[in-house]
Amino acid sequence: MRKMDLLKKRIEESFSIDFVEPDSLPEGSIALTHHRNFINRIHSYFDNPEASYGEFEARCDSWVFENECKAVAGTLSACRDALLQGWGFNIGGGLHHSFPDHGEGFCIINDIAISINQLIKEGNIHNAAVVDLDVHQGNGTAVCFQNSPNVKTISLHQQHNYPSWKPKSDLDIGLDDGTGDSAYLQHLSTALDWLSTQDKPDLVLFLAGADPYRKDQLGGLALTKAGLSSRDRLVIEWCKNKNCPVAIVLAGGYAKDVNDVVDIHFNTFKCLMEV
Ligand SMILES: [Zn+2]
Repeated sequence: MRKMDLLKKRIEESFSIDFVEPDSLPEGSIALTHHRNFINRIHSYFDNPEASYGEFEARCDSWVFENECKAVAGTLSACRDALLQGWGFNIGGGLHHSFPDHGEGFCIINDIAISINQLIKEGNIHNAAVVDLDVHQGNGTAVCFQNSPNVKTISLHQQHNYPSWKPKSDLDIGLDDGTGDSAYLQHLSTALDWLSTQDKPDLVLFLAGADPYRKDQLGGLALTKAGLSSRDRLVIEWCKNKNCPVAIVLAGGYAKDVNDVVDIHFNTFKCLMEV
């Protein structure tokens, strides 16, 4: 969690940016994505948080859940910014292992799906694309949108890593262990070329995970910091060239030295500002 405070500080030192705390989630927004019995189960953990370890790799008490709701609201807020000014950025979010009916890992509820479904309901967008470049496949997001032809999901991930069951995204590219910069960037170009053949999305959600980094403890790819910057530039320039608003969320990042993780996320923000 430390990366978020450190990243905010780095950005504030380098850019004159006003951070905003998001408004609370709109009433009913979680239920647009998640089943009622799952939402009830989450609340049932508040009295017995230890029980939540059977479902998540996190203790789900009311404090944790409130903070996760804030992270979700941050993604929705970043999406609204993107629709207004072309880009938005959330220091948090990317909770892509949460499904409609259960959560996994550190992901209780799915900020990407909740934000997109809320904006579609409000009539602010008609369609969207999710470009998930975390090292782990976006299993929860894939299932959230498996029956939504207006939302295209792309996941570029390490094939031999969690999750072992990888439900189908619209486009999955499973990479070999140890994939480095140039092969990764080629696969990403292929993915973006595919997206160019689809209806133009009203909004792109970009999960700019820091865990494809070669020193990540939960990842097995071999990207350098420079390679990850090139990755960010490919996605952000694609969005600019197609005139698609882009909202960026952090997703994972578990290098031993938290400063490496902060560097990678900071570079994403810097690239966003440059483009
Ligand atoms: Zn990850």
